[in-house]
Amino acid sequence: MRSKLIAGNWKMNTSWEEAKSLFNSVNEFPSNNKSMAVCVPACYLAGLCPAHPNLSVFAQDCSAHEKGAFTGEISAAMLASLGVKGSLVGHSERRQYHNETSELLKRKVDQLLANKLTAIYCIGETLEERNNELHFATVTKQIEEVIGHLSSTQMKNIVIAYEPVWAIGTGVTASNDQAQEMHAHIRSFLKTTFGEVANDIQILYGGSMNAANAQALLACEDVDGGLIGGASLKVADFEFIYNA
Ligand code: PEP
Repeated sequence: MRSKLIAGNWKMNTSWEEAKSLFNSVNEFPSNNKSMAVCVPACYLAGLCPAHPNLSVFAQDCSAHEKGAFTGEISAAMLASLGVKGSLVGHSERRQYHNETSELLKRKVDQLLANKLTAIYCIGETLEERNNELHFATVTKQIEEVIGHLSSTQMKNIVIAYEPVWAIGTGVTASNDQAQEMHAHIRSFLKTTFGEVANDIQILYGGSMNAANAQALLACEDVDGGLIGGASLKVADFEFIYNA
């Protein structure tokens, strides 16, 4: 039985004072049967770890390299040494603005797993791809190229976040039917590739999830939680989604 995970992606927002205040509020949500995570700016990771057992701290990115002369980079081993639970990999903003390729993302996933961390691997199609009915092929390719080489045991440390690019930060959400259809497709592909472990892999939905639409999206059979951007910066909205 899969548990639900509600993860906030703060992106490049908050001052340190705001970050501490937001984190302390989230840390104090009365726990329910869902897990919680916050993906925070890298410079705040050390100051926010460790959280209480129901709340995990994640990075938003990590290096594809193990260590060495890579100025500005943060390695998976560094994240592990802080008590960070893992990192987002392949968020569409990084694919788009930093030209991150599948080859690079694959190495980031490998670094995280080598350090016993969890990768929240983000996938999703553009509007153009959906309009051309390429959405299933796009996410299948994103899975194959970046995590297709993993063993079923390694897949236990992978969370998938399906985030249609056209829904991120736009206020437009996938309908419940669109989300369920895609999540079922992803699970079925994971089953073909990795076997029965696919039943235990959490597949989160992301893209303008908010207090108004969370309950219905989270009720979909194959939606195992949410990756939430804008609404995770507002304590009341994030708590509402956590309890949805
Ligand atoms: C995200 O950035 O992962 C995201 C889902 O953002 P938003 O909720 O703001 O659409």
